[in-house]
Amino acid sequence: MRTAEVKRRFLAHFEANGHTVVPSAPLPAIDDPNLLFVNAGMVQFVPYFLGQQTPPFRRAVSVQKCIRTPDIDEVGKTSRHGTFFQMNGNFSFGDYFKEEAIRLSWDLMTKPLEAGGFGIDQSKIWATVYLDDDESIGYWRAVGLPAERIVRRGKADNFWSMGIPGPCGPCSEIYIDRGPAYGREGGPEVDEDRYMEVWNNVFMQYERGPGTDKENYPILGDLPAQNIDTGMGLERMASIMQGVDNLYEIDEVRPLIDKACELTGKRYNVSHTTTAAESHPDDVRLRVIADHVRTSLMLIGDGVTPSNEGRGYVLRRIMRRAIRAMRLLGYEDPALPELLPVARDSMSPSYPEIATDFGRISQYAYAEEEAFRSTLRAGTTILDVAVADTKKAGGKTLAGDKAFQLHDTYGFPIDLTLEIAAEQGLSVDTDGFKRLMTEQRKRAKADAQARKTGHADLSAYRGALDAGGAVEFTGYAEVSRESK
Ligand code: ATP
Ligand code: MG
Ligand code: MG
Ligand code: MG
Repeated sequence: MRTAEVKRRFLAHFEANGHTVVPSAPLPAIDDPNLLFVNAGMVQFVPYFLGQQTPPFRRAVSVQKCIRTPDIDEVGKTSRHGTFFQMNGNFSFGDYFKEEAIRLSWDLMTKPLEAGGFGIDQSKIWATVYLDDDESIGYWRAVGLPAERIVRRGKADNFWSMGIPGPCGPCSEIYIDRGPAYGREGGPEVDEDRYMEVWNNVFMQYERGPGTDKENYPILGDLPAQNIDTGMGLERMASIMQGVDNLYEIDEVRPLIDKACELTGKRYNVSHTTTAAESHPDDVRLRVIADHVRTSLMLIGDGVTPSNEGRGYVLRRIMRRAIRAMRLLGYEDPALPELLPVARDSMSPSYPEIATDFGRISQYAYAEEEAFRSTLRAGTTILDVAVADTKKAGGKTLAGDKAFQLHDTYGFPIDLTLEIAAEQGLSVDTDGFKRLMTEQRKRAKADAQARKTGHADLSAYRGALDAGGAVEFTGYAEVSRESK
């Protein structure tokens, strides 16, 4: 079953149950200064949950484009994490609650294929509930799930929030047992690779306060109504329906792996393992390439452009990781002109605007790769020498001033230095690097301040001072006198 069909069935099931189909919001989260990218289907509905706006419907269904940058290090190493993914979701705004949400999700999962469902064998389904949520256990039992496949879990897994202030609540997740080929028996507590989390039903009833700790943050109180917010990973469900080992091998992503293999001459799945965790580094790289190229396409498609801060920096980092992974597989030519059109062809059936806007998208992407190639040309030798010197001296840590020099003079982002150093078995003195960055920022601020107060631009002197410190400079006294 193609990914597009998984999506269609999800929408159809909930539309038939009184839900209004709402299009995906764009990836950049524009209304929330705390959030760079939309990371769940509920984001566009937050004002409804908080009672700040009245929704034009009581029930909605969507397939939301999502970005989760915190998952970047998992990509390729687990079977289930993409930086970009699509979240199928059904929502109730003060309408139905736990009982109907559980029943609706069970029905879609277990309804036979020929009746428009996913036809999942009931004996493969597990559910988790929040610690004391006996009510949900009762509803799961009522639809036919036996007690031994219902697991209570704590806050880290079964109490959902966006990670920032906003609506939150206990949740109940649905897992599919992929069988012994994928890991150990015993349920999601034992093996999250074998038992793949596909769907989360959130019982949205509280408002969360600030705090970064995943488990300890204040609850400000009840929301005006009890709501339902669910998220089913489209790619994860597609991987189940297609019987492939991980979400990088579904129809929307796999062509990128194949193209990368063709370009690099590598073979995919050299490790012949069903569990991503044991994969050969080349297999991980091929998945990273596929994931990151697709993510870049979708981000530029939604108006993000590479830059040195905020959203643009996330995009830049993702693009550069993909390009570097291609180089590590031995491909030194510009890679995006080969790969991006493959991503376009996979994604444009669901997102036709990707095809019509491809001229603009590819221009940004190819220019970024060119810029990165010249950065690499300039900095790689310096870094290689520094790495070799450090190793020769028996050191394990690359000096902070080297990392700073690479950043300052050659435009090497610190992540890149960290990554290359790690590949060589070295760490980086990031404290030293940060100290130099702070000093530089202070200098820049002082210069800006001096300019603002209408005095001489000191940056030229500063530059000279920084370069050698051998400039006689007596200007401060003048400046401070004048500014009185
Ligand atoms: P996991 O524990 O596997 O990291 P999660 O609990 O963080 O997933 P939720 O926040 O509950 O995920 O999101 C709802 C659903 O979205 C998940 O059940 C999953 O199907 C899907 N999903 C979450 N993160 C990703 C991702 N990085 N890539 C693909 N699908 C994802
Ligand atoms: Mg997660
Ligand atoms: Mg989870
Ligand atoms: Mg979850």
